[in-house]
Amino acid sequence: MTTTNTPPGTKVATRSADRTYRYLETIPFGMAHLACFAVFLTGIDLTAILIAVGLYAIRMFGITAGYHRYFSHRSFKTSRIFGFVLGFIAQSSAQRGVLWWASGHRHHHRFSDTDNDVHSPVRRGFWYAHLGWFFTVQHNETKLDAVPDLAKYPELRWLDRHPYLPAVVIALIAFAIGGWSGLVVGFFWSTVALWHATFSINSLAHVIGRKRYVTGDQSRNNWWLALLTFGEGWHNNHHHYQSAARQGFRWYEVDFSYYALKVLSKIGLVWDLQTPPKHVVRAEQRLRRSVIEKAAGELARSFQTETIVADLRALLAEKRASLDISVQEFQENLLALIDSYHAHVDQKTTDFQDELKRLIHAIDVMSMPSISDIRERAAAMFVRTPSMNEITERARQILVDDVCEELLRLQAVPAKANAR
Ligand SMILES: [Zn+2]
Ligand SMILES: [Zn+2]
Repeated sequence: MTTTNTPPGTKVATRSADRTYRYLETIPFGMAHLACFAVFLTGIDLTAILIAVGLYAIRMFGITAGYHRYFSHRSFKTSRIFGFVLGFIAQSSAQRGVLWWASGHRHHHRFSDTDNDVHSPVRRGFWYAHLGWFFTVQHNETKLDAVPDLAKYPELRWLDRHPYLPAVVIALIAFAIGGWSGLVVGFFWSTVALWHATFSINSLAHVIGRKRYVTGDQSRNNWWLALLTFGEGWHNNHHHYQSAARQGFRWYEVDFSYYALKVLSKIGLVWDLQTPPKHVVRAEQRLRRSVIEKAAGELARSFQTETIVADLRALLAEKRASLDISVQEFQENLLALIDSYHAHVDQKTTDFQDELKRLIHAIDVMSMPSISDIRERAAAMFVRTPSMNEITERARQILVDDVCEELLRLQAVPAKANAR
């Protein structure tokens, strides 16, 4: 599919560049996993377990409420001091700096589940989405242009420049309180658990679970991931309405981070918690243009363009029809032809049949799916949305464009260059 803008799903030249890994960085990551086994040397006691549980809880809150809901999405307000505290706690989870995290996450929402997405399991597979992307050269740098609203604060830039300092501080505190088992079980166990729980949102929450809303990507709601990640598992909800401080939209969708934020708002540490409007929760609002575009692309690609093109080519070869016309002209003709064919197919008027014969002489449209075929497919693929007609119409347009483009490419029409 070719359009002048880079459409979602378009393959980009950076594909191989983002597969270059920073292998040295995987060493401390691997060592942290190995350190967990030092429990056989240090033993385990109640203090160590309590430190682990406490550090998991407070740092998971830091990641979800801080890194994600505050810094990436600005879904509530707070003071600079408490903002720094949230950033420090989140950063002690050793998932790089606050600005790096937020910029990468904003990028994920912009391009979710397209080839441009930093961590799409649909495009790159589970392990790349879970871990691999984290160690690539391409995704190593903080893209400050994506977070100008955060980068203007010197204290956040300072935090970002010292990505692992908070983790070292927390590790030392764990050691001071619990000794070696405090360090191994309290710090390393909870850190490794936090990594994989957080990474599961990037990997599993785009694969396993239910879609309640049409979001143009593969984000899903998953209750057990929501429990593990303090509410982040309601990922389809979140992709549907990203600026909400709560991600469990229904009363039964447990969202510990939101409950904690509510408590903090009662004591005035945070305020202006944004919640999704009722019509958004009920999926009664029209979808954004970008979401329609992505959903329509997915719908169009579910049809076998190759088969349609092969049928059309066979017919063209048979009829020796000339395609010595401009690309635009050809596309317009085909669209008009499909329209008239599907509009009149039930009216067996002689006039129409004659007209149809004349048109079919140039090109056969029998193998193109009709708008009702596409609508039927859309109803099976997507949950209810008031934008279903727009998705279907756009999918049809994309399908026709794809077929035309492929047909013209294979026919090697001189006017081909016009399509670019
Ligand atoms: Zn998000
Ligand atoms: Zn996502």
